[in-house]
Amino acid sequence: MMTAKKITKDDYLKLIEEIRAHDRAYYGKAAPVISDYDYDQLVKKLETIESENPDWTLSSSPTQRVGESTTTGFKQVKHAVPMLSLANTYSEEELSDFVKRIHKWSLREDIDFCAELKMDGVAVTVLYEKGIYTRAVTRGDGKKGDDVTANLKTISTLPLKLDLKDPPDLLEVRGEVFMSHKAFRISNQKKEDAGEEPWANPRNATAGSLKLLDPKEASKRKLSIAFYGTAQDSSNKIQSQFACHQFLEESGLPTFAKRHRIKTKKIEEILHFSREVEEERKHLGFDIDGIVIKVDDFALRAELGVTGKSPRWAVAYKFAPEQATTTIREITVQVGRTGVLTPVAELEPVSLAGSTISRATLHNREEVERKDIRIGDTVLIEKGGDVIPKVVKVDLAKRPKGSAPWTMPTHCPICDSEVTHAEGEVAIRCPNKECGDQVLRRISYFASKDAMDIEHMGPKVVAQLVEKGLVKTFTDIYSLTEEELALLDGFKEKSIQNLLKSIDVSRKTTLPRLILSLGIKYVGEGVAELLAKHTGDIDALSSLTEEELIEIEGIGDKVAESVVTYFQHPDHLKEIHRLFHLGVKPEKIKTQKGHPFFGKTFVLTGSFESYSRSEAAALIKERGGKVSSSVSKKTAFVLVGAEPGSKYEKAKKLGVAILSESDFSDML
Ligand SMILES: [Zn+2]
Repeated sequence: MMTAKKITKDDYLKLIEEIRAHDRAYYGKAAPVISDYDYDQLVKKLETIESENPDWTLSSSPTQRVGESTTTGFKQVKHAVPMLSLANTYSEEELSDFVKRIHKWSLREDIDFCAELKMDGVAVTVLYEKGIYTRAVTRGDGKKGDDVTANLKTISTLPLKLDLKDPPDLLEVRGEVFMSHKAFRISNQKKEDAGEEPWANPRNATAGSLKLLDPKEASKRKLSIAFYGTAQDSSNKIQSQFACHQFLEESGLPTFAKRHRIKTKKIEEILHFSREVEEERKHLGFDIDGIVIKVDDFALRAELGVTGKSPRWAVAYKFAPEQATTTIREITVQVGRTGVLTPVAELEPVSLAGSTISRATLHNREEVERKDIRIGDTVLIEKGGDVIPKVVKVDLAKRPKGSAPWTMPTHCPICDSEVTHAEGEVAIRCPNKECGDQVLRRISYFASKDAMDIEHMGPKVVAQLVEKGLVKTFTDIYSLTEEELALLDGFKEKSIQNLLKSIDVSRKTTLPRLILSLGIKYVGEGVAELLAKHTGDIDALSSLTEEELIEIEGIGDKVAESVVTYFQHPDHLKEIHRLFHLGVKPEKIKTQKGHPFFGKTFVLTGSFESYSRSEAAALIKERGGKVSSSVSKKTAFVLVGAEPGSKYEKAKKLGVAILSESDFSDML
């Protein structure tokens, strides 16, 4: 290892340049080229050099600012209380040093610490005035950030009104916006279907979603939020971290599960907590990158104060990423449900995060080119949560002589059709709908749990059915016979009966499931449900125009176009009718067509006794109505609560029907 003495000022300046280049790659394109861990190590190295050579430190050094910079297109808001970032530690020893330091500074040993999860997302600060959500701002540079009030509003668990009888006049809470692994997979699938480059990880996806200027688009990303602190509280009631968590819970603000926050005086218990969290990490369903340890008592925090850009009373303990080194045996190409070709690295099997890894996704051609990944290369692979492992970087020193850059095949590896590349898309596709792998994945998707839920018909069984030519279309599934199933490897009397039975059971389904199972581009679970509710049956759905589809709250241009294109293909509707003929029967669902709210636009003003505004809006939307923020001639009803605003006056002027809360409740 290099010692500080050998480092010259030139090395220092070069290191700054290197970190800046990574920053640009990260924030500019939301596409990091090194792992977060390696990045942190570089910054840490820089901090060490600066602490040993204080006169070198440039005011523009990456250590002198906090977190990400702000984005153009958003209103900038100055933070009333700066959003500091935490000092990081990377070993149990450094963590113990932190605790010892606090003991030394405070001249006390009996100090309570709180330890909690460190979410790997985007930090925000959220303001509630008299219990009403008024503003949300990103960390930005720590002093000012982007106003993301509208985008944050789309997070379903964020209360727009606090659950408190007597809320403080002013409450500013701090939290982290993040994306669950499930939402991340769905979001990336959509990007891949659209031929766009997928997000590298859930945090990039979160940052990218918050930067969307259209809240309607942002709402589709299904972001989540967890709060962990207060910045301002006019009631002054909260005096410790532990009390803060309780208060957040009482207020209806999402915070950590009880097992994910502890209070203790003992370093051993903090370390024990940390080990348990690290163990549980891969099952959490969302990304964390460590734990945070804070001094519990706010009065003591004030005494300890701040050093530079970080508070003295807290520290982050970051877990090492789950990484491993291996070699690439081969690069193969997978064909997805919609024909997208994805390069996959076939690896020398290696153990990573408790499982044996033999494949890693290479996302798309551009990714392979950018990282110059070749067959025979020694690579570093990484796995975050349950996200599919990916190649972080190539060890060029170990590259075998004579290796050549990898190129995407010009023909589909499965059916040999010439591949297509639509302008403006990253994706390269096999255009052949009969292509073996596309059929296989379409059928697998159709039979999957969220779709038609055909038990005993997992991907391996589907592969056999397709390979033996027994199933090419959805309808083939429902005409399978005992004799045909007997042809499958390992299928005996019992397994044949089991499969036939579950195929039969799946005939009785729901309309949203049936719509989902068709595998229409951009139509996921939520959209399928909306479409089902608004149309009531497949024929009605197939006859809607793009304009009519967009009218449905929650359906955007892309979905509308994709649905119309799907039904333009005459075979598609025929296939569905054949399914009906073979006994597939979605249960009748109540559409809201008959409800007086259906298709009507509401405007809400004032506050209500029994509902928060977002609850009232949800009730309207559930019944097929729409909610708008301003009164116009198109407004059908203005729902008026206590202390209504100018919207009430305008409604009277325009002669719009006015509903009181009790009228509203009756109509529900
Ligand atoms: Zn093909």
